[in-house]
Amino acid sequence: MPASKAPSSLKDLSFDNRYTHELPADPIDENYTRQVTDICYSWVTPKITPNPSLVSYSQDAANLLNLSEQTCGSADFLQTFSGNHVLDDMQPYATRYGGHQFGNWAGQLGDGRAINLGEIINQQGKRWAIQLKGSGPTPYSRRADGLAVLRSSVREFLCSEAMHYLGVPTTRALSLMTTGEKVTRDMFYDGNPKAELGAVVCRLAPSFTRFGHFQIHASRGETELLKQLVDLTITNDFPHLGQPSPETYIAWFQEICDTTAKMVVQWMRVGFVHGVMNTDNMSILGLTIDYGPYGWLEDFDPGWTPNTTDAQGKRYCFGNQPEIAQWNLAQLGNALLPIIDNLEAVQQAYNSYQSSFQNRWRNMMTKKLGLTSLDPQTDPELFDQLLALLAEVETDMTIFFRNLAKLDLNTTKPLTEQNDIPSELTGAYYQPRQLTQPYKTTLFEWLNAYQKRVQKDSTSQQQRRTIMDAVNPKYVLRNYLAQLAIDKAEQGDNSMVNELLELLSKPYDEQPSKEQYAEKRPEWARTKAGCSMLSCSS
Ligand code: AMP
Ligand code: MG
Repeated sequence: MPASKAPSSLKDLSFDNRYTHELPADPIDENYTRQVTDICYSWVTPKITPNPSLVSYSQDAANLLNLSEQTCGSADFLQTFSGNHVLDDMQPYATRYGGHQFGNWAGQLGDGRAINLGEIINQQGKRWAIQLKGSGPTPYSRRADGLAVLRSSVREFLCSEAMHYLGVPTTRALSLMTTGEKVTRDMFYDGNPKAELGAVVCRLAPSFTRFGHFQIHASRGETELLKQLVDLTITNDFPHLGQPSPETYIAWFQEICDTTAKMVVQWMRVGFVHGVMNTDNMSILGLTIDYGPYGWLEDFDPGWTPNTTDAQGKRYCFGNQPEIAQWNLAQLGNALLPIIDNLEAVQQAYNSYQSSFQNRWRNMMTKKLGLTSLDPQTDPELFDQLLALLAEVETDMTIFFRNLAKLDLNTTKPLTEQNDIPSELTGAYYQPRQLTQPYKTTLFEWLNAYQKRVQKDSTSQQQRRTIMDAVNPKYVLRNYLAQLAIDKAEQGDNSMVNELLELLSKPYDEQPSKEQYAEKRPEWARTKAGCSMLSCSS
């Protein structure tokens, strides 16, 4: 590790490619689509991009690699993170994994359009794996091209960083570049393919290992490889668990159950819907990974899914996410059985997910309502009643919680004596005609119960607001905002991508000049493609 804390240039990056050093490689290094066995990854070279151009980069993510602003603006940076230039110590590869897609075992999937450049140890001693998304075909590309379009890349880039700033565990995004190449996509799967701008995102994570990486070995009876991968994962990413052993494996699985619960609670807090919670899209570190047809709840509807492929079954809708995460953990638990050989212990760890989720969820809701601590006797009911209320009429989740903090509940006068919905909350409703008398009665009943509960805490109005404003964001990546930024970027104007990156780096702050971005979704965006529903085509 260099002693100096001065910003590194790319040639100072200190690579330590453990994944490829310690795990077996595909002996075939030709790049054609195939099924592979008994190996963990295949060597590949990113596709040369004819005319790369930087759309945006995250200085905060660059800091994880100790890269200065000057380096990020350099031609070297552009060439390296568009995939054109492979640094001396980089050894690009695509990993092999499988997965359950929409509940069914899909067999071999793998990095079909992700290429890993290697792992670095930064000046703080932390390991970061570097991965390009959209940089050309690999042996795992199946029938697809390994490329990505600007539209989906803007979404991945902005959302990764927005989630990080919101405090949600996530992979990070270093850079977003257009490639100068056209990529054909049938966005609506309706027989109307269109040439779109190609793009590459460079993303970072301590590890990109997914549940599906373990599943593929288990499904093919490759027990020794399964063990090797588990041991490496524990040594690298879970060193606090100690030397790998059957006991450590159980503790490890237990920890994954817990961190997964933690991640999903955070999704539920901010109104994020992943959209494709297949087991190949579940990170072993409990990071949000693979930003595809995700979406943000506007009106609070637990049945909402942003993914058109999921519109019928709604398997991955907002309200199902906690349960689906547990289903995915069951698949991971099954995959680990050949090396743990203790069904009961795996089941016990798996069962702990529910209580871990519930405890974390209740604590999260306690903060969302500005309460100082959970009263298990009364608060769960208060939470449930509120969620039912939010779902009853079209209510913007983000605005409702943010503005609820503005209500002065410390007056002695009960809120029920008011005749109309408090003005602080009216901005959250999409359809004023839905605000009928019966709705108002239920709302006032809840507000009254909430007021009494708050008064029991004896917090000041300011204290309650401080608690709430730290967990109820003012700004999220509203679906239509991402689409507006995309529309501009597709015309060569990257200003809104950069403006949103900046805005979303302080999601809990009041940003008076940016009030318009905190408003509810405009009506024109209700049914517009990209603003309300998204296909997997990316
Ligand atoms: P996703 O639904 O994006 O998580 O992808 C599921 C699988 O399809 C993964 O194995 C991806 O690598 C692969 N995949 C998705 N898009 C492409 C593409 N354009 N080219 C090659 N593989 C892809
Ligand atoms: Mg994926």
